[in-house]
Amino acid sequence: MRSVNLQLTRITDRFSITPLPPQVDSRCTGDESCRNRATHRLLSWSPTSPSGVRLLCDAHAIEWAADHGLQITTARQNDPAA
Ligand SMILES: [Zn+2]
Repeated sequence: MRSVNLQLTRITDRFSITPLPPQVDSRCTGDESCRNRATHRLLSWSPTSPSGVRLLCDAHAIEWAADHGLQITTARQNDPAA
C-alpha cells in the first residue's frame, strides 16, 4: 500500500473536504468502479447537489475539487513533465 501524499483540506459554506485519518480503511465512493482506498471525506450540503458524506480517493478528490473550482496543486509522481 502506497503512502498517502494528498492532504486536502477545504471548508466552505457548502462543503468540507478533509483527509481521512490513516487508520480509516474504506473504499472510495467517488465512482462505482473505483477500487482505490479512500483518503478524503467529503461532506456536502449544497442545495443543488445531493447532500451527505462521500469518501474519495486521491484521484477522485482532485477531480471533485477541480469540478468545484478549487485550485489544487499537487506533486504527483506520475505527472508528465510539462
Ligand atoms: Zn476514487
